[in-house]
Amino acid sequence: MLIIGPPGSGKGTQAERISERLGVVAISTGDIFRANVRGETPLGVEAKTYMDNGDFVPDSVTNKMVRDRLREDDVDGGFLLDGYPRTTAQVDYLDSILAKGEQKLDVVLQLTADDEELVIRLLGRAKETSRSDDTEAVIRHRLDLYHGQTEAVVAKYAGRGILTKVDGIGGIDEVTDRVMRAIENPSRVSVVSGR
Ligand code: AMP
Repeated sequence: MLIIGPPGSGKGTQAERISERLGVVAISTGDIFRANVRGETPLGVEAKTYMDNGDFVPDSVTNKMVRDRLREDDVDGGFLLDGYPRTTAQVDYLDSILAKGEQKLDVVLQLTADDEELVIRLLGRAKETSRSDDTEAVIRHRLDLYHGQTEAVVAKYAGRGILTKVDGIGGIDEVTDRVMRAIENPSRVSVVSGR
């Protein structure tokens, strides 16, 4: 399955919880990039400037990283991708990886939240963490990329009938409850609202 959402929508937190409850491995491209930046690996050195500016790391780099990660043994029982695909070219690439492995996506979950709420949340997170991409200008740029590029990804999966939208505004446990309900009944629930 995939979890897609704007920056600050809580997708990383929810991905960890889904992973624990369903026993599938969660793979966050942002976490893999950050670990590489910390380790000063060639991949990290290449990704760092893009990340600091809130830009997407080029598809060629990101796609190869995801392909290698999906070749590892722990994904055999299924996986949850967090933060990939973010461009329609990445959707096509993921399609080709899945086709080769005779795998298919069961659910694409989109967490929704209002931009201004997200800016407030992310500026709050910036006080607690040292993420270099949590300044207001960079946050707004990341939101613009989400609307400009990743919403087209969401539209593709909606067209395939596997998209489930979940309202990401509310307490963490409350959102997890909505997410789990949406996963359990993906074909019946297309929008799980908190209101
Ligand atoms: P995240 O933790 O998901 O917000 O990702 C942090 C940063 O990592 C993003 O702002 C991008 O610079 C980079 N990144 C993560 N996933 C992708 C992706 N699928 N495509 C391109 N860049 C990505």
